[in-house]
Amino acid sequence: MSTFSQLFHQHDWEEVKQSIYSKTAKDVEHALGKSKRDLEDFKALISPAAAPYLEQMAQLSHQITQKRFGKTMQLYVPLYLSNECQNICTYCGFSLDNKIPRRTLTDAEILKEADHIKEMGFEHLLLVTGEANRTVGVPYIKNAMQLLRPHFAHLSMEVQPMDQEEYEELIAEGLNTVYIYQETYHQEDYKKHHPKGKKSNFEYRLRTPDRLGKAGIHKIGLGVLIGLEDWRTDCFFNALHLEYLEKTYWRAKYSISFPRLRPFSGGLDPKVEMSDRELVQLICAYRIFDEEVELSLSTRESEKFRDHVCKLGITAMSAGSKTNPGGYVVEPQSLEQFEISDERSPALIEEMLERNGYETVWKDWDIAYDVK
Ligand code: SF4
Repeated sequence: MSTFSQLFHQHDWEEVKQSIYSKTAKDVEHALGKSKRDLEDFKALISPAAAPYLEQMAQLSHQITQKRFGKTMQLYVPLYLSNECQNICTYCGFSLDNKIPRRTLTDAEILKEADHIKEMGFEHLLLVTGEANRTVGVPYIKNAMQLLRPHFAHLSMEVQPMDQEEYEELIAEGLNTVYIYQETYHQEDYKKHHPKGKKSNFEYRLRTPDRLGKAGIHKIGLGVLIGLEDWRTDCFFNALHLEYLEKTYWRAKYSISFPRLRPFSGGLDPKVEMSDRELVQLICAYRIFDEEVELSLSTRESEKFRDHVCKLGITAMSAGSKTNPGGYVVEPQSLEQFEISDERSPALIEEMLERNGYETVWKDWDIAYDVK
């Protein structure tokens, strides 16, 4: 199979959904009793039938995570470089039709923000932009990476999807990880949420992790925006995508994120609400399904929730985040992409982790390991 797209189109959304919702307690017990789980087991673990097994799932997820990752938690922080965007996305504060002042950081501003981020202790930096090829296309991102690479141990990005050659160009500059979320695998509703701009091309986005794999990226981050569609069905497709990528580009590492729709000015309400218990179930299901995958939780989630789940399978957390360009020092008042829920400083997050017996990992990479 040369891309995930072929595998994806062999599946029907409604059939998958029905199969998840028809899983029984017996299927869940069967999945929990195995030493290696497949996608049918994953369906059982995310199904409503697994809800009464949450405690058992949490214990198992905790054990598997400790065995593979120890008692550690990676911390990272986003640096929003620009809120320019040529796309309309119904759920995002930076959407083209949202009349907000647009801002793209200059070289001096990028370095000023970076200084502040370094003072907070971070070595892992996530670069974020909207999708505006003319202002924040590959040349802009490459320049930002050249400015920042000497100051940080690890650079990742969450920006527009690119061609394979463009990824190769940025990997040569020290790009380690790319986060590319499909948002939803429901192809018809994807169009409703992305009516204008390059992002409306479902197939190009769907094939992006393949291009990353072919480009030889170190780590690929996947996810769906929880709340757009039935989260169980969307997460099955995300797990299918993960399993395909792990088999096809086996040298790369993978990570899953769990963004739930958050409010922003003039924004969309979630079509499907996911409760905290359901998010715990999903985190545990991913861990039990895949012992190797990194699981990441952002500051979209509340203090209380993050404190609770840090022991249940999560391996990376953001901290002290601002989701507006210049949000740390240059222009703190500009509009955020979404509201932050956990506003604690990185030092307080580190304290919380210590109280729970976890060691904070500020750095697990070095410029010396970069592909040259
Ligand atoms: S989600 Fe990304 S592409 Fe869509 S409007 Fe927001 S910044 Fe632009």
